[in-house]
Amino acid sequence: MIPVIALVGRPNVGKSTLFNRLTRSRDALVANYPGLTRDRKYGEGTMDNRRFIVIDTGGISGEEEGIDSMMAGQSLQAIEEADIVLFIVDSRAGLDHADYTIAKHLRVNNKKTFLVANKIDGMDPDIALAPFYELGLGEIFATTATHGRGVKSMMEDILGEI
Ligand code: GDP
Ligand code: MG
Repeated sequence: MIPVIALVGRPNVGKSTLFNRLTRSRDALVANYPGLTRDRKYGEGTMDNRRFIVIDTGGISGEEEGIDSMMAGQSLQAIEEADIVLFIVDSRAGLDHADYTIAKHLRVNNKKTFLVANKIDGMDPDIALAPFYELGLGEIFATTATHGRGVKSMMEDILGEI
């Protein structure tokens, strides 16, 4: 079984940048992966000879009304389809109200969830990560999706857990 990894979080946190980094080539796109629908973006990646599927989502803005509609649509579908959820937050923007709502949903969901603080470039990691522990999701991976920093070790940890 190839593990399926969903990237969720607010718009503009770096989900698509991370998706592109994890999947790299256009050939990696898997438009017709069995059992998966097409309204989200699927790609295949490899890390240390382990294959995985990544799902990119449009993002949850927090403007939606209530938890149900906020988590509805493609993000919720992606979470359902995934074995692992990477919840991406923006280190620069800091903790956002929508992050709490997303975290609340993910805490009660039985999917393996990892919190990823992206855009850590140029920041003091200790200071940047501190507010996000409040989301109650445990360990936080710090990444720079644009340059790839932290991505490989994060993926090795995550894939090692399943
Ligand atoms: P998405 O809406 O969550 O898919 O976010 P995108 O991947 O489209 O990224 C939004 C913006 O953030 C783009 O301008 C990216 O270049 C930028 N970005 C993504 N990752 C990083 C990062 O690690 N560091 C910095 N400084 N910018 C980033
Ligand atoms: Mg995107």
